[in-house]
Amino acid sequence: MKVHLIKDSEVGKDVFSEVVDLLQSINGPIEFLYDINNTIDFTEDDVEDSQVLEQKKFEKAIPPEERIYANMRPSKEIEFEFRPFKNFTFPLFRKTTKWTTIFNKCNHYRNKNNIPENEFVILLTEVSNTNNWFASLDEKMPFNGFIHTADWNHFIKCQDSFPIAYEVIALVLQKHMFIDYNEARISVHIEPIGCVNDLCLEKKNIILKLRTADVCQDCMNKLKDKLSIAEIQHALNIMDSLRVKMLFSQNLRQNVILSKLIIDDNNRIFLPDFGNIEIKLRPLEKALYRLYLDHPEGIGLSFLCDHKEELYEIYTKLSSLGALNEMKVRIDDIVNVTKNSSAEKISKIKTAFVKAIGDNLAKHYYIHGGNGEVKKVDLDRDLVEIK
Ligand SMILES: [Zn+2]
Repeated sequence: MKVHLIKDSEVGKDVFSEVVDLLQSINGPIEFLYDINNTIDFTEDDVEDSQVLEQKKFEKAIPPEERIYANMRPSKEIEFEFRPFKNFTFPLFRKTTKWTTIFNKCNHYRNKNNIPENEFVILLTEVSNTNNWFASLDEKMPFNGFIHTADWNHFIKCQDSFPIAYEVIALVLQKHMFIDYNEARISVHIEPIGCVNDLCLEKKNIILKLRTADVCQDCMNKLKDKLSIAEIQHALNIMDSLRVKMLFSQNLRQNVILSKLIIDDNNRIFLPDFGNIEIKLRPLEKALYRLYLDHPEGIGLSFLCDHKEELYEIYTKLSSLGALNEMKVRIDDIVNVTKNSSAEKISKIKTAFVKAIGDNLAKHYYIHGGNGEVKKVDLDRDLVEIK
């Protein structure tokens, strides 16, 4: 089975490649294909600035039984009730497009690239859609689907790529579970039971579904004749890997033994004992992190200049970007105590770890230290493996 993932130009390349990495990280018969440079654009005619419905209007306009099928996203105002952050204001206006517009784009891509009718084309888009859905399949061509990629962070504190990758699997399973759109509408679980098919009106229900990463027996029976055992197993394995990675990122796993940190042949950083999650850093951040790993005693920012050559050597091995003199300039900036570059990089490194495994675990891995103090990585270096 092939699943082609495409995106609009507003979906960040980082998020998109994280989603692809998450889906491709588990081996199996479902193939995830993508072309990061081929983006789908929404023109002025495709979108309208619409006022977000108020909650009461939303509830009146769309009765609960209509808000079903693949993971309806409640209105922003319902989110508001469950919002995890204080002082958050909703945008009053935003771009909205019609489902037909979204699916026309899927069809266009399908035709242009000669994608057969039994392969999925799933569009990841930042543009919201009529009625505010998270994700859905196309009623007319059920191998088309979309996932709305914005706003996840109001629901669930983790990398956006986790729920988005989950939705990709959910759409693939839902396509095969139901004969048609109508069956899907009546088969959704109104009371959440932690199945991929739960109706999610509340944030906590979405988390439940992501945490259980399960398909209930009824839904599984519907799948059995339509997908091979290997395909079902593959989908479940991906869901489970997302579940494990999310548990770490949400600090739900406390008092666990710290994971090893591995830097592989391609200089990618993985935490194998935390669901093999990857910590994504840019080359310059990676170089700085490597320097701190090599110096367990720590280095104060004002002493970074003493390590300029060392840092430069690490960086040139990591990065193929740009000419050597440009690379020198970047390193000069980092070690220059009058510029803010090193502090910025250290803060980005921290964010990457916190996003991946949550603050409590991350603090053992990121570079820390107060203003003017020595900065260092606490991690026991026996846990560090550099290939
Ligand atoms: Zn179910």
